[in-house]
Amino acid sequence: MSLVVENLSHTYHPGTPLETQALQRVSFRLEPGQWVSLVGHTGSGKSTLAQHLNALIPPQSGKVSVDGLDTQSAPKILREIRRKVGLVFQFPEQQLFAESLEEELAFGPRNWGFPPEEVRERVLRALASVGLPVSLLETSPLNLSGGQKRRVAIASVIASGPDYLVLDEPTAGLDARGVEELLHLLGTLQSRGVGICYITHDLELALSRSERILVLQEGKTLSWGTPEEIVQELQSREMEGLVLPPILELAHHLRDRGRSVPLTWDWNRLA
Ligand code: ADP
Repeated sequence: MSLVVENLSHTYHPGTPLETQALQRVSFRLEPGQWVSLVGHTGSGKSTLAQHLNALIPPQSGKVSVDGLDTQSAPKILREIRRKVGLVFQFPEQQLFAESLEEELAFGPRNWGFPPEEVRERVLRALASVGLPVSLLETSPLNLSGGQKRRVAIASVIASGPDYLVLDEPTAGLDARGVEELLHLLGTLQSRGVGICYITHDLELALSRSERILVLQEGKTLSWGTPEEIVQELQSREMEGLVLPPILELAHHLRDRGRSVPLTWDWNRLA
């Protein structure tokens, strides 16, 4: 059981003047209950990769499989893959559409064919898991605060019961409290066995949270490994533009998680 990407390549508009190679032979793996971060500059291929993970884009070359189901399959299999892999786009609240929270959260479970009692149960569970009260069920999502809308958008994905959750910069635009709440929620889901694929340009967050990190650069794998391995890599490679935390803070994060980090960092690299 895992989400596996093998030698995935993708070119937009092949054979035209607009041709852009977005991914080149990228591989990584996400296990249930694991947190993997995808980091890299804007344009490094993170979103293109994310869209492959729930079969929105079929592989042109290479392979993506979810618990053994290939994303290049018949529609019935693709439907199962899309239930298994929940995708939370950037600013997901912009996609809220229903007249009430209840309708918004029920849409996914109904679409997957769950019976009405289970739909209701899933709606209530998803609402509780993002810390919103039942009294809001009849409210229009449009009447909520920005942070609440974000939580509703994520709850609407959680309501379908995904085994893997792929989130593209989910904390963008949230205040410090909103960020903390969201990270706490993702930690809870992870502890229940959901695999988290977290797309960010914040390397510090990735280093402190992830079991493994994939660093993309111009569509290619720059590094893939544990936070310690990535730190080792960072010492020998240029990572211009990424958020580079001071090494002691980094060491502190890692030590909190029972890890050690080599303290031979070249401070000049942080300038
Ligand atoms: P990231 O999420 O890391 O910012 P993207 O996956 O969005 O990276 O983009 C990777 C490359 O593919 C970039 O060069 C980008 O301009 C290009 N690209 C992304 N989406 C499209 C598209 N729909 N059509 C053409 N080119 C695209």
